[in-house]
Amino acid sequence: MTDCLFCKIAAGQIPSTKVYEDEQVLAFRDIAPMAPTHILVIPKAHIGSVAEVTPANSAVIAHIFEIIPLIAQTEGLTEGYRVVSNCGAHAGQTVQHLHFHILGGRQLTLEMA
Ligand code: 5GP
Ligand code: ZN
Repeated sequence: MTDCLFCKIAAGQIPSTKVYEDEQVLAFRDIAPMAPTHILVIPKAHIGSVAEVTPANSAVIAHIFEIIPLIAQTEGLTEGYRVVSNCGAHAGQTVQHLHFHILGGRQLTLEMA
């Protein structure tokens, strides 16, 4: 995807504050944090949203969910955290590249964050 913001971040063409990276996955700090810790975890390969997860590309999702607890531990989120993925217009998805928000560091409400 040539015109995708998070593909460009994954490729290092747009800078980000990285907290974790491997061949398949990048995690970086959200530019507009909604909680003391607000990290986005993305597959480096473009997937548009949860709606585009298939048997052919789902292995990276399992990998992301192995990485999330490691990030939470590193960030010191011992009291818990929230993992959110907005999918489509009604959820308010603004970047059309699959991402999981990790939110923590304060008591979260029943709103998204
Ligand atoms: P969504 O609304 O699609 O669930 O989440 C997109 C998130 O990406 C938002 O929380 C927004 O603050 C974040 N974001 C948008 N552009 C950038 C950027 O250029 N860099 C970083 N680090 N985060 C971004
Ligand atoms: Zn992309």
